[in-house]
Amino acid sequence: TVRTRFAPSPTGYLHLGGARTALYNWAYARRHGGVFLLRIEDTDLERSTQASVQAIFDAMEWLGLDYDEGPFYQMQRLSRYREIAEQLLRDGKAYYAYETKEELDAMREAQSARGEKPRYDRRWRESKETPPAGRPGVLRLKNPISGDVTWDDVVKGPISISNDELDDLVLIRADGVPTYNFGVVIDDVDMAMTHVIRGDDHVNNTPRQINVYRAMGADIPKFGHVPMILGSDGQRLSKRHGAVNVMQYRDDGFLGDAMVNYLARLGWSHGDDEVFSREQLVEWFDFAHVSRSPARWDPEKLTWMNGEYLKRVPDAELAANLERAKPEVYKFVASVMDPVKMTAAGRAKFQLVTDQERFLMAMAEPAHPDAAAAEHLGEAGKGVLKEVLTRLSALPEWTAPAIGAALKETVGALKVKMPQVMMPFRAALTGVTQTPAIDAIAGALHKEVVIARLQKAVA
Ligand code: GLU
Repeated sequence: TVRTRFAPSPTGYLHLGGARTALYNWAYARRHGGVFLLRIEDTDLERSTQASVQAIFDAMEWLGLDYDEGPFYQMQRLSRYREIAEQLLRDGKAYYAYETKEELDAMREAQSARGEKPRYDRRWRESKETPPAGRPGVLRLKNPISGDVTWDDVVKGPISISNDELDDLVLIRADGVPTYNFGVVIDDVDMAMTHVIRGDDHVNNTPRQINVYRAMGADIPKFGHVPMILGSDGQRLSKRHGAVNVMQYRDDGFLGDAMVNYLARLGWSHGDDEVFSREQLVEWFDFAHVSRSPARWDPEKLTWMNGEYLKRVPDAELAANLERAKPEVYKFVASVMDPVKMTAAGRAKFQLVTDQERFLMAMAEPAHPDAAAAEHLGEAGKGVLKEVLTRLSALPEWTAPAIGAALKETVGALKVKMPQVMMPFRAALTGVTQTPAIDAIAGALHKEVVIARLQKAVA
């Protein structure tokens, strides 16, 4: 069975590139009825934080990326790494090296001065010298001296690197903690990964890791390196292009499903399909259609995508989402309106979830009439509104159609044109002159709220 993983380092919030990597691994595992697992690579003790671990969990939950195994933590597997380290040492595949940092720096400087590529000179590789007393060594891999490392990348195609280019990789640091390249291989072996899919910033690590698999005598998984995400200007995506923290998008009013759809399309395609369900993604996802060139982050397209998803969410669910996300806001708006009806009245223009909140708040707490609105609230407007007030006060049922009918009757009774009623009414209720259908807005507001606003306008 297919087994994939997402293996973030908890050293900050989860960024968009990481989320997309997680998504591709998830989708591939789901597509093949396989297993997707989460592994927290927390060996960078200085930079790893519990808050970052939580941010990873939160983002995966928001995006609906459920995992079948884990979370595993590398720091809980140190004894396993040592076990493999000892095995490699016994098998003559690794060795301890005892240079101090100063000695290593001097070595590199001398090499650079000679115009050579700086690299560890393998002094301890076959050395029979006794190790310096009291100095902890680092464990290094005996990287093959000649030949090439080749793999058929499921995204990028065949890649070949000469062993000549590769150093004797440090496997275990002097403090006993494994390096990324060592821990990741042991974990991927133990966790029986069939596919290692990650950002292409790791392409250079892969030949090193393949040599570790070989030294361990382990099966080598398939590798896939997903090109990075660029901003609209072609530069690496960064804060200059907007938020790079996935969770910021939730707070900014995006839906998890819309983000998933957008991230899926960002660097992968299925014909011309743009909007597709999670089920379709799972049915279609493959590496053959992951682009070999970098993707461009397009905030406008994401917003459009979100609007498409928002359209499909029922009014009641949108209102319930607001109640869950912003309980105080919800309580306040619900004291003056029916939030579900108001959502229905305004939603044609919503692209972001936050548009809903903004609209409901604007209707709950209308601004002081702006200049255009004030024009409709002069003597003529007041006269019309008095008539509207009388008729609405007498309405037996408070619904948009009943209100609409009463407004029409006012038009007839006063022998005026439709806008001469609608505009003062709109201005009195909302303080502005452009809103969605005003009878729907009035019907969503509590009756006493509408009456009070009219009374204030005619006073
Ligand atoms: N912890 C590594 C990272 O976050 C994982 C890379 C990999 O998937 O092997 O970049």
